Amino acid sequence: MANLLEVQQATKQFGSFTALKDVSIQVPKGSIFGLLGPNGAGKTTLIRIINQITLPDQGSVYLDNELLHPQHIKDIGYLPEERGLYKSMKVGEQALYLAQLKGLSKSEAKERLKYWFDKFDITDWWNKKIQELSKGMAQKVQFIVTVLHKPKLLIFDEPFSGFDPINANVIKDEILQLRDEGATVIFSTHRMESVEELCDHMALINKSKKILDGKVTDIKKAFKTNTFEVGVLTENNNDLYKNLQDNFDITPANFKTIDDQLKVKITLNDDTSSNELLQYLSNKGQIMRFNEVIPTVNEIFIKTITDNE
Ligand code: ADP
Ligand code: MG
Repeated sequence: MANLLEVQQATKQFGSFTALKDVSIQVPKGSIFGLLGPNGAGKTTLIRIINQITLPDQGSVYLDNELLHPQHIKDIGYLPEERGLYKSMKVGEQALYLAQLKGLSKSEAKERLKYWFDKFDITDWWNKKIQELSKGMAQKVQFIVTVLHKPKLLIFDEPFSGFDPINANVIKDEILQLRDEGATVIFSTHRMESVEELCDHMALINKSKKILDGKVTDIKKAFKTNTFEVGVLTENNNDLYKNLQDNFDITPANFKTIDDQLKVKITLNDDTSSNELLQYLSNKGQIMRFNEVIPTVNEIFIKTITDNE
């Protein structure tokens, strides 16, 4: 798949402090790319470089195979981390103004804003002043303004911070839909665990460096350990526990159940299949749970950091 965006070995210093070191990313067309890492990792610095707000000390950025130049700004919709709207302006007035700055005609802007305000069920905000809105409400307006001109690349810096879980899900669904309609999306987050299902590709950034990247499914496959979480109802949990201990590599599992199941995580060696384990267990009791343990992005992140230290 062709890449819409390529960053090659970007480095950025602030004085003697290195905020970004030799970071390269490739963002395939039509994908959602997650830039994940803790606070201070360098995510916003990289995003600001892509948006031509910050110049890198070294490295280059290509959009659609062209070296980044000022005209590319119109191809990118950018939701900055520091959200800024003019507090005393009315919501609708401001949205119309910003949409026209992005090159939409007034009538086109009105039409598209109507669609989005209806979609988010916020038409009655049109005549409110921005200062009357909560942080989450203002953020919704800013999200709309970011996507309104249908740019080919959308960049959201920490789009979920400031939202309650319900509104964060609304935004997640919108991001998926924008991707399905052909947009390419980059978003950053320091809350790795909550958004991993959203990304097709991801890069993990830590202390200015990229420590891992790739297709999320490939990364998960590479980190999975052939471990199954199992719940079994038996006459005697201790007997089965001992039995499993003698035959498998097991650790206790804790998930909630309403009855007294034996709960364990079983790691299989390469010679044993999940079906064999299932057969083995079905002779010992009633299997209530059997699922593969897939590492979370957070676990992968921690493992990658500790392995590199
Ligand atoms: P993230 O978005 O991953 O939380 P940032 O890219 O904002 O991280 O910041 C990375 C590091 O660079 C932080 O330690 C931050 O303090 C520093 N930094 C960012 N911008 C500047 C700046 N303009 N001047 C000095 N230091 C900066
Ligand atoms: Mg940031």
